[in-house]
Amino acid sequence: MTLPTTPLIDTPGAAETLIALMHAQAEVARLSEREQLFSSLLVSVNAVLWAFDWETRKMVYVSPAYERIFGRSAGLLLADYSEWRDSIYPDDLNYAERSLNDVIEKGAIEDREYRIIRADGEVRWLSDKCFVSHQAEAGHRLIVVGIAEDITEKKQLEDELQRLATTDVLTQSSNRRHFFECAQREFEQARLNGTPLSFLLLDIDDFKLINDTYGHQEGDVVLQRLAESARSTLRRGDLFGRIGGEEFAAVFPGCAPEMAMQIAERLQREIQRLSFQHQDISFSITASQGLTNLGSADTNLETLYARADAGMYQAKRQGKNQIVLV
Ligand code: GH3
Ligand code: MG
Ligand code: MG
Repeated sequence: MTLPTTPLIDTPGAAETLIALMHAQAEVARLSEREQLFSSLLVSVNAVLWAFDWETRKMVYVSPAYERIFGRSAGLLLADYSEWRDSIYPDDLNYAERSLNDVIEKGAIEDREYRIIRADGEVRWLSDKCFVSHQAEAGHRLIVVGIAEDITEKKQLEDELQRLATTDVLTQSSNRRHFFECAQREFEQARLNGTPLSFLLLDIDDFKLINDTYGHQEGDVVLQRLAESARSTLRRGDLFGRIGGEEFAAVFPGCAPEMAMQIAERLQREIQRLSFQHQDISFSITASQGLTNLGSADTNLETLYARADAGMYQAKRQGKNQIVLV
């Protein structure tokens, strides 16, 4: 804005006009300063702010972080809202749309999380909170505003923490707590659906002797290789975990008793086949197993566990390296 160059002071009302102009100029400067501040804030914030016109189904504003996080053109999104749908990971599209629709009734949806596919093909996790704009209450157009934050790294960290909390560090198998949690779920499912289920306990024979003869480190290798071998022998969907020092357990959901015995026998053979090398001595190992099948009188998992345990101890008493079905 430019001020007139000739003095206006002599004209009637000129002083007031000049003061009004000066105020207007100061206001413009103030607004422009604020706009610059907002722009730089919006550029540096690692979240996309957006505004969506509910009636016309048009995105009316999207902040600069959109292009960085979505790896897509903001112009395309503003021109056509289907660009947003296209960017959502197909499995999450239904949820993303449903939760957006819910905002009209609830006023705010703060726990929305879904995946997007960037233009370069990379999949990212978003937390996309949305709110009905207060303008709507004042009788204006219905505008939904949102803030979409990239939470991919946070999700990865959560997954890693979850993995650490459920996995036995040495053998990378499920730990005792996680194994029994999953076993409980499978047990309940089997009871509910009337489907078969088997429970197996496995304990390495004379493991103390292995440690004493070849050293604790070699003992650790034995545990690792046994777990690896068991994981590759079991079927997909079977559960396997390390539930004690040299004690492992498995659950076979939906598995007929004869098949469960075949799996246990296969496991027994695979374990015998493992060959270990310590300096110039090679050695092998054996294990004792207790196997049991879900019966109609079994009302809790502990009963199955206790029976498999009794089977395993019977196998030990009978000379080890065998499977006892109870
Ligand atoms: P049995 O045939 O009757 O099962 O005899 P065992 O020697 O296998 O059983 P015992 O319970 O007497 O010994 C188990 C040993 O397992 C004792 C313990 O030091 C060892 N152990 C437990 N956890 C670990 C581990 O993480 N690494 C190693 N190397 N040894 C372990
Ligand atoms: Mg043992
Ligand atoms: Mg033991």
